Amino acid sequence: MCELCPHRCRIHVNGFGKCLARKGEEEKLIANNYGKVSSFCVDPVEKKPLYHYYPKTKIFSVGGIGCNMFCKHCQNYAISMSPAGRRRTTYESPEEIVAFCRKEKFDAIAFTYNEPIIWFEYIMDIMKEAPDLRCVLVSNGLICEEPLRELCKVTDAMNIDIKGFTEEFYMTVCGGHLADVMRSTEIVNQEGVHLELTYLVIPGYNDSEKEIEEFSSWVRDRLSPETPVHFSRFHPDFEMMDVPITPVETLLRCRDTAMECGLEYVYVGNVVADDSSDTYCPNCGALVIRRRGYSVEIVALNGDRCSQCRERMHIKR
Ligand code: SF4
Repeated sequence: MCELCPHRCRIHVNGFGKCLARKGEEEKLIANNYGKVSSFCVDPVEKKPLYHYYPKTKIFSVGGIGCNMFCKHCQNYAISMSPAGRRRTTYESPEEIVAFCRKEKFDAIAFTYNEPIIWFEYIMDIMKEAPDLRCVLVSNGLICEEPLRELCKVTDAMNIDIKGFTEEFYMTVCGGHLADVMRSTEIVNQEGVHLELTYLVIPGYNDSEKEIEEFSSWVRDRLSPETPVHFSRFHPDFEMMDVPITPVETLLRCRDTAMECGLEYVYVGNVVADDSSDTYCPNCGALVIRRRGYSVEIVALNGDRCSQCRERMHIKR
């Protein structure tokens, strides 16, 4: 039985776990996706999205194959739903990844594009090889407590997708449990890892006023009012081609609701919408960081403080 994520798959010899990445072989389990890289790129850190983490910097981003959720709207299904061996990948050892970061002078690496949790051993080995590299995970948060606490020891920042705020949505659209993701997110927060959340707003599925209010209240009460939240625009994809794109008004309404609930840093994403991707000082209201797409201008930030009123901002630099 694999104990990495709450699916706890029982895997037979030559069988795969639900994530299609972990395989039974001669009565032992192997990480069949180990080191198999499907994609890499140098991205603005804002693309993860992380708005409060070394703003205006670039991050080396790497992805593999497979996922332990099965979202009907997955935007990366070509790599997430593909078992190792059926998708073209290149093998990169931890040493090779680290050597590339050193050569190109990257001081941070993001594991992203597909679900990094199922790359657990590979990530741990890379970080063992280069403990000074800042490790960023873009994750669905579906992982058991023990491996998550291990991962937190080597991780500097995480963006976790909160895909909706009902069990029904998670079970019918994503193939996971909301309660598991909430528990993981709270652990990441307790462990002191820089945390931001993404909520992809899908019209008619997870955009009710009640759901957004409940999500925002949970962030405020169980994480922190300072936790940055990104309401992101849905585009039809994979098995949800019949659902319309999210209206900008819906995203702005979600942002308003979250801010009325007391969240201090709320953004809309996947859309250029006036000032709703900018950061304002929660104390004096000054514009601190202006963003238009991936163009970022630091307007009034001195270290991690607002240059106008000296309020400490929740921004890591
Ligand atoms: S990581 Fe994969 S094999 Fe392991 S329990 Fe989760 S879905 Fe199953």
